[in-house]
Amino acid sequence: MAKLPTTTIIDLGRLSLAHGEGARLDLDLRLGPLELGGQTYAPAPESLGARLDLSRPSNGYAFRLRFPLRVEGPCMRCLEPAEVETEIDAREVDQSDTEDEELRSPYVTEDELDVGRWAHDAAVLAMPTRILCRPDCAGLCPTCGEPLNDADPSAHEHETASDPRWDKLKDLKLE
Ligand SMILES: [Zn+2]
Ligand SMILES: [Zn+2]
Repeated sequence: MAKLPTTTIIDLGRLSLAHGEGARLDLDLRLGPLELGGQTYAPAPESLGARLDLSRPSNGYAFRLRFPLRVEGPCMRCLEPAEVETEIDAREVDQSDTEDEELRSPYVTEDELDVGRWAHDAAVLAMPTRILCRPDCAGLCPTCGEPLNDADPSAHEHETASDPRWDKLKDLKLE
């Protein structure tokens, strides 16, 4: 059964940072599965150690979130097991007294930072568009659907002999 991502909410008010101050938090994150290209990729290990840096430059907050990420799931070409390893390094700013949406973080509401949702979105953005078991994955045979990576190429030179039109041609020649 797929587990839902655990929300990790940081109460910014309780950190009581003054302007010009900063803080560093080490967090345990559970991202939950990532949906990519119609497939599901599970972070492994499930629990990730993340580092969150917070600072209050003038008004509002600036955040930096970093964590290593490794996900496992099917190769997008051949469906054999594949994995991706990457480092997430994401930044957000949130200025409290502005109407400018560009300066508001979608992950901050009422002085609370939703690190869980941010980390999940940052992980999805960091994934390659194609997740492959190996860079030159040959995919599946278009005729029989078998994986081609370790297959003998001659085993997939499928004859068209079963094509009834071909049979008719052969009959003609024999006559
Ligand atoms: Zn593959
Ligand atoms: Zn084949």
